[in-house]
Amino acid sequence: MSDSKRIQRNKTRVIDIGTARLGGENPILVQSMCATPTQNIADTSRQVQALADAGAGIVRLAVDSRKDAEAAIEICQQVDANICIDLQENWRLAQLLAPSVAKIRYNPGHLHHHEKSVPWQDKVRRIAQWAAEGNTALRIGVNCGSVDPAQKKMWPPEDSVSPMVASALEHSTLLDEIGFIHYTVSLKDSDPALVVEANRNFALQRPEVPLHLGVTEAGLPPDGVIKTRIAFEQLISRGIGDTIRVSLTLPNDEKNKEVFAGQEILDDIASGRVRSVVHYQTDGPNIISCPSCSRVENGAFVELAQQVKELSGAYCDHQLTIAVMGCRVNGPGETDDADLGLWCAPSFVNLKRGSESLGSFPYDEILEKLKQEIENLIRNRGTVS
Ligand code: SF4
Repeated sequence: MSDSKRIQRNKTRVIDIGTARLGGENPILVQSMCATPTQNIADTSRQVQALADAGAGIVRLAVDSRKDAEAAIEICQQVDANICIDLQENWRLAQLLAPSVAKIRYNPGHLHHHEKSVPWQDKVRRIAQWAAEGNTALRIGVNCGSVDPAQKKMWPPEDSVSPMVASALEHSTLLDEIGFIHYTVSLKDSDPALVVEANRNFALQRPEVPLHLGVTEAGLPPDGVIKTRIAFEQLISRGIGDTIRVSLTLPNDEKNKEVFAGQEILDDIASGRVRSVVHYQTDGPNIISCPSCSRVENGAFVELAQQVKELSGAYCDHQLTIAVMGCRVNGPGETDDADLGLWCAPSFVNLKRGSESLGSFPYDEILEKLKQEIENLIRNRGTVS
């Protein structure tokens, strides 16, 4: 584990995540997430162990169905690791999972899909009750692409940070009122500057709440590591952050590079090897791609992300944001803010311009279609004749 003792940290609450301690004076914990299908118990157990062996203090698994949950419980019995479950819409699965896992992440923006007539506050009360009975911790995981629509409505459309912070604050307040304080908060965006702004804003108002830092869909290394480093340097040097994840688009057998990258960033910050960063990548294309997880429905996604990156090299004089996402759970929402977005389904790739759908294309046709759209976009901006 990286030594972060030299960094003056916010005096956050200490919480136990299985055998790991997080917050307060404890070293900043590096964590990671599996990308193997959760129901493939053998492969996922192997990946959990590889990440834990690389130094991940917490390993996260995506759970979207009862079968995923049952597999995750089985995996917990086979590995020596602190397992966190990533829940999206299926919040009720927390009841089944809580007794077996070290932590559960719920997303405030995804509590609205199931049982729409039940107020979100009641859902959080139930999740907290199950977590307390199961002696498991929680994370309020707010994500730029899936912010609570009720919060979004309350802020100007160009302000993406305020609804994220407000959502995290209201969920923190509710958990406190319930008396459940074993929770962390994360506020993630694919833009490191927005990650810094959101986390600084939240930490100013709730300095005692442990923060999980991450730049979502940071993309392929080395760019993804650089984006993440930019955000972490600015936050950790200010005492903000108790656990980190570097989200990188990597093949399954290289997932442990996320942990090594996280440890290296922490070591560098602790040793003063930081860069002074004012702006991130103001020139040239910005490719964002999700780190992939078990929700990926076609393994060609990682290769596609690499091909998009290569393709974008031909447009190095143009400011373009292209997002490449691995699945239908977060892909449609998280591509909205990109100039062009791709999200992968089992046998085709959906292409978007901003929030507008441009259709679905087979994997072997998507790059040509993307190229046409990049050129249309540049032409419409008047930068090429
Ligand atoms: S976009 Fe989908 S596949 Fe990619 S990390 Fe997010 S949930 Fe997983």
